[in-house]
Amino acid sequence: MLQKAISEISEIVGSANILVEGPELNIQLQNTSHFIAPQVPALVRPANDQELDSIIQICRESSLPVYTFSKGLNWGLGSRLPLEDGCILLDLSRLNRILEINPKFHYAIVEPGVSQGELSAEIRRLGLNLMLNVTGSSPNSSVLANMLERGSGFLAHRLDDMRGLEVLLADGSKMRSGFWNDAHSEREALHFSPGFGPDWTGIFSQSNLGIVTKAVVNLYPKLELQKMLWCKVEQSRLPELVEAIGELYQRKYISSVTHIGNDKRMKIEHRGADKVQTWTSFGSMVQGTAEYVEFLEKEIPRVVGNRCLSLGFYNQQESEEAGLGAVFGCSTGVPTDYFIKAMYMSEDMDPDGQNLQIDHGPLGMLCCLPVLPLQASAITDTLEILDSIYRDFGIMPATTLNPMNDLCLESVINIYFRRNDPEAVANAHAANKEMTKRFYEAGFRFYRFDVKLMHEYINPENPHWKFVSRLKKALDPDRILSPGRYEPKVS
Ligand SMILES: Cc1cc2nc3c(=O)[nH]c(=O)nc-3n(C[C@H](O)[C@H](O)[C@H](O)COP(=O)(O)OP(=O)(O)OC[C@H]3O[C@@H](n4cnc5c(N)ncnc54)[C@H](O)[C@@H]3O)c2cc1C
Repeated sequence: MLQKAISEISEIVGSANILVEGPELNIQLQNTSHFIAPQVPALVRPANDQELDSIIQICRESSLPVYTFSKGLNWGLGSRLPLEDGCILLDLSRLNRILEINPKFHYAIVEPGVSQGELSAEIRRLGLNLMLNVTGSSPNSSVLANMLERGSGFLAHRLDDMRGLEVLLADGSKMRSGFWNDAHSEREALHFSPGFGPDWTGIFSQSNLGIVTKAVVNLYPKLELQKMLWCKVEQSRLPELVEAIGELYQRKYISSVTHIGNDKRMKIEHRGADKVQTWTSFGSMVQGTAEYVEFLEKEIPRVVGNRCLSLGFYNQQESEEAGLGAVFGCSTGVPTDYFIKAMYMSEDMDPDGQNLQIDHGPLGMLCCLPVLPLQASAITDTLEILDSIYRDFGIMPATTLNPMNDLCLESVINIYFRRNDPEAVANAHAANKEMTKRFYEAGFRFYRFDVKLMHEYINPENPHWKFVSRLKKALDPDRILSPGRYEPKVS
């Protein structure tokens, strides 16, 4: 049955676009986190919607599960790995058309394989005064997948970019959200995302209920002048600085995401007995007319008060002179490899070109991703957990705590390790597992999980997860779409 299905799929996509078990497929299963891969019979790369529809039909008829990804750079969380044995990897990177960029209503319609580098370049090629909300990940990562996964961008939460979805269901039917589903009117359909009736887009984000084949992605108008706020703070004053940043959001002085990195993240080692640990805040943009920006340059330091060791505002040229040009670029819609290189540099390793696909590089990486309430006590407790990991495992996690608005911070807490040292691998995995547990026991919750820890934090008896199981049964009774991902384990 499996072999028959694989040869039918091979006929659809052509032999160059399918990998079956062997060395080439094994390379695709390598992942920077050094997780052991489940058994995967094949990887397939359809070229268009018709090929995708036919593959899903074959899988449905032979009860063969697929595990969908768009570009597969889900680094630190499992990359391209499914949760269960026996899934065909469904790689959508060849569905890579930018179908529309609408300047007036500031959105783009893209397929899963469109990378943030490609969409950003196209916006600039067209000379539009618009910005894509890029992430700190590779320019090759997927605009659509990162949004579905609720990634964190520089301008906003990526979920805020979601203006519409086109979804293929397991039964082969396809639908579009909101007014996009009813394209009979000549008028604009994407100016009001929920449309009329239940808005189902949310159930396809962090979900295995369908395959998203197109997305309408919000773009952000770029105003006359932009400057990036940065500051440096001693660790002891970080909790109160975070509260002050919350006030900046409440006053609407800043609206983009602030990134606050520890010394490890910023590649500064200050851990001597006499030296204080510092955190560096960057990325939050102020923008508008020259007069308005000038007002903010006076007003923001007043709100922040004397909490920082230093504070300033950089325009593009000043950012470049300070070695922060790539960060300024991210804050204005231009993705970069800078943060991947920084990861290697923080471990004194060479980020050569090949290593930028970190699944095949020598440096390993794990992620712990709690979303913190924006309050000083949450920051104090977070710092204590990080220090406890350093004490107990000898690892200082590379951390950014990222206020997104006046309510929450998304944290990105990474553990790096040498992949060629089995003891280092085991220690890193134990530290990440324990750190996640310590955050959980301290009452914090997480916005993303890796494929190995996800099920430890899904309680099948919880009414939320019971509802998810009911949706799965209704929409995908044979469990052919990414089984196990974002759903309780089925025994
Ligand atoms: C140095 C560094 C910096 C990083 N910075 C950031 C950052 O700033 N913000 C951030 O969010 N992440 C960041 N990451 C993590 C990660 O690399 C990104 O989240 C990346 O965007 C995920 O890979 P991808 O876009 O290729 O998604 P994919 O791997 O293609 O997809 C991710 C998951 O989404 C689901 N999915 C994908 N496509 C579909 C579809 N069409 N239909 C249904 N489900 C689908 C699948 O479950 C899949 O496993 C960083 C990583 C590193 C190493």
